[in-house]
Amino acid sequence: MLLCYQCLNLSKPQDQCEHCGADLPARKAPPRVQTKTALLNRWSLEYRTRDIERLDLEARLAEEERTIRTILGQAADDQFDSDSLPMVEEELRTGRQGLQAYLEALAGFRIWLDTVDSGELKRVLALAAQADSLMNDAVAMNFNNYRTYLESMGEFLYQAGYQGPS
Ligand SMILES: [Zn+2]
Repeated sequence: MLLCYQCLNLSKPQDQCEHCGADLPARKAPPRVQTKTALLNRWSLEYRTRDIERLDLEARLAEEERTIRTILGQAADDQFDSDSLPMVEEELRTGRQGLQAYLEALAGFRIWLDTVDSGELKRVLALAAQADSLMNDAVAMNFNNYRTYLESMGEFLYQAGYQGPS
């Protein structure tokens, strides 16, 4: 069972609430996206067409690296208590692998600024695609954990005899 946040009744776990027809939470998996690949691809185009100065691009790269390192710090195992760690461990590991691959892509992108070699850029974009894929996997695992959590919470309410407003 799932609790509908629109009408506060319990519904069978389907896409829409059986009472009010509202979308039930966490029923649709998030779409897979290629954010990092698209970003580096766009930056490489802007650089080749001279729409962006090298210094500006290097500043963007540094900013991006800082953000990723901050996220990596927050996604370390020791940031989670031992009860919740087993539930998120695989998702964290996969997410961290994705972020590491992205850092490698960013480092390769820096080298490419000197060479503007198409083979090097290909390698960088392949790394970024690998990073995107791993991060998408982590998001999907996160979604599945969240859905499992909501369903077990709804089931708990149902077993406890919860009666919604209707
Ligand atoms: Zn409802």
